[in-house]
Amino acid sequence: MRALILSDIHANIDALEAVLAAAPAYDVVWNLGDIVGYGAAPNEVIERIRSLGGIFVRGNHDRACSGTRSFDDFSSIAGRAAKWTRSVLTPENSAWLQTLSKGPVTTESPLVTCVHGSLLHEDQYVVSMRDAWLAMKDSASHITFFGHTHVQGGFAASAREWQNVQPRFPSSRGLQEVTIAIEENRRYLLNPGSVGQPRDHDPRAAFAIYDDAAQLVSFYRVEYDVRLAQMRILRANLPERLAQRLLEGR
Ligand code: ZN
Repeated sequence: MRALILSDIHANIDALEAVLAAAPAYDVVWNLGDIVGYGAAPNEVIERIRSLGGIFVRGNHDRACSGTRSFDDFSSIAGRAAKWTRSVLTPENSAWLQTLSKGPVTTESPLVTCVHGSLLHEDQYVVSMRDAWLAMKDSASHITFFGHTHVQGGFAASAREWQNVQPRFPSSRGLQEVTIAIEENRRYLLNPGSVGQPRDHDPRAAFAIYDDAAQLVSFYRVEYDVRLAQMRILRANLPERLAQRLLEGR
């Protein structure tokens, strides 16, 4: 089985379509949340992603934009975008967001888990090795796929050491792939990266594929039409910073 792993699409339909067009063959889709928020095409993204089926974990923006969580603790830009998203979501799409699972969610693969933030809390950011260690130390999960940070890569732990997993792509053109072999005696916390609002200084859309028979995880980057996504944001009168950051990848 090959799982296409998507996270933090953030209502960016242009990035999502580019990812779906570029992704090598897959059998199922695992979605790690923040389907909406920030971007200007929430209904289009929900309808597209729902049609693909698979696993869905809810993100903090999915909750804020569908009214099951306040956005008082959001930055003013994120709050403005959440308010706007609430105003444009169809009742059906808003109701669907409210049905998404909190996580951790188990998958078709034994010992492979999906979360939005961390195994400990759905809103926690796993940024450092210490965050990763705390999240993993009491878990039996072999691979945990997480999102929320919008940074592709993650952490691998053996009995002897911890390592950062940081895909380094040979080029910034075309579809780029870096594959890592999953070892039986290591445990992994891996982030496919953000489809619709990368924050690792690479503006290209990010995603991953997990192949459970081969025990491989491939990280990908693909270019998309950033200008189109920016124009949608400006046209919707969303904060200009949301358009600018797509170009900067941060
Ligand atoms: Zn997010």
